[in-house]
Amino acid sequence: MAKKETAKDLKEKLFLQRKNAYLRMSEAEVGKCNKFCEGYKAFLDEAKTEREAAGFIEREAKKAGFVPFDKNKKYKAGDKVYLVNREKAVILAVIGKEPVENGVNLVAAHIDSPRLDMKQNPMIEKDDVAYFKTHYYGGIKKYQWPTVPLSLHGVIIKADNTKVVVRIGEDEGDPVFCVSDLLPHLASAQMKRPSTEIVKGEELNLIIGSRPFKDDEASERVKLNLLMLLNEKYGITEEDFLSAELEAVPAFKACDIGFDRSLIGGYGQDDRVCAYTELMAVLEAKALRKTAVAILTDKEETGSDGNTGLRSAYLRYFIDDLAASFGKEGRDVLSNSKCLSADVNAAYDPTFPDVFEKNNASVLNGGVCVTKYTGSRGKSGTSDASAEFVGEVRAILDKNKVIWQTGELGKVDIGGGGTVAAYIANLNVDTIDVGVPVMSMHAPFEITAKTDVYAAYKAFEAFINS
Ligand code: MN
Ligand code: MN
Repeated sequence: MAKKETAKDLKEKLFLQRKNAYLRMSEAEVGKCNKFCEGYKAFLDEAKTEREAAGFIEREAKKAGFVPFDKNKKYKAGDKVYLVNREKAVILAVIGKEPVENGVNLVAAHIDSPRLDMKQNPMIEKDDVAYFKTHYYGGIKKYQWPTVPLSLHGVIIKADNTKVVVRIGEDEGDPVFCVSDLLPHLASAQMKRPSTEIVKGEELNLIIGSRPFKDDEASERVKLNLLMLLNEKYGITEEDFLSAELEAVPAFKACDIGFDRSLIGGYGQDDRVCAYTELMAVLEAKALRKTAVAILTDKEETGSDGNTGLRSAYLRYFIDDLAASFGKEGRDVLSNSKCLSADVNAAYDPTFPDVFEKNNASVLNGGVCVTKYTGSRGKSGTSDASAEFVGEVRAILDKNKVIWQTGELGKVDIGGGGTVAAYIANLNVDTIDVGVPVMSMHAPFEITAKTDVYAAYKAFEAFINS
């Protein structure tokens, strides 16, 4: 007679197990994970905006043998192509052995992050201090952005249509910029404001200088002095800001957090953590069964509108052109395709447990997070992956020993949010969110766990190779 199973045996067999990823990894794996994260941190430092990320991706793609996509060319298994959309979004594809009409494996991350954009006419001088007026981009807690050293990134299109590329505050010895805040001694009235207005949108003014132009009695002499400096350095006048895109982002570098160096702190990990892991997986892809398509898109943080966001037709056009180069229809490719919408989820925060439902929250060091549905209230705005597709993804992850967990964005009715998943699913593609849990999401300094970053890379690798 077989030995009776104990409660412990039965629980192990029947209960869902959730175990810290670190405890499930060998020392060798932890070593690989730590090494992978060094590359990730370097990427965070090098690519702080969508334009810089797109540039990084194009450079790495070229190094890995990708060539610009040409819709009039014929492609065969193993060919690697890319397409850059207006310097702000990139699509990479590795052609697989199976016919393209059998569908492709899509992975989609976004490379824009919350930040302070300069207004179109940004320069003001107030009481001998000069500022750039800003308009915040994406969902931020405005009070988090003052007193943080900020760097300035972007482009200025001059009257003669030439482009000046700006990147100030990143190199050793560069000046930085910042938004001021009141000292506590004089902030009693400010602290009574509602927290959405502790610092108001129109108070997010970037300090850019304070020395006046000498030997003149004209007004706005600080501004004049700065414009003189900018004219010397870039050949620009104030009018050129009208056709510029300048973004202020945290100037600090990504780094390890904790005595054990288990976590990564850095700006813009939503969603460049998924962008990097997805990119590494696709750059290393070879001999694929199905064609892999990696999308690195812009404008997710403002709702995916615009021609570089995923509500634009640029992805559909690419699929149409790819299909046409095989004499097939884009709609057939899309209808048979599967997609991992590679975006982050909110990591359970033990300091603020009330907003999470612990059974259904992702945790740091829990592995890559699979999110069946996003949205808010009654699942409004979600594409909600089918049980069948969740099952497929689950099987792929388990078969490849990827450490993963599930999680939804907070308690029911507490808040919510969306990703690009719905826009891809709307093209009749099986789509699900898969990404890294992030603590302090949308803050200037976001937190991820190294084991989760590595698990995301392994997940995208497994999916692309499925
Ligand atoms: Mn995101
Ligand atoms: Mn976001």
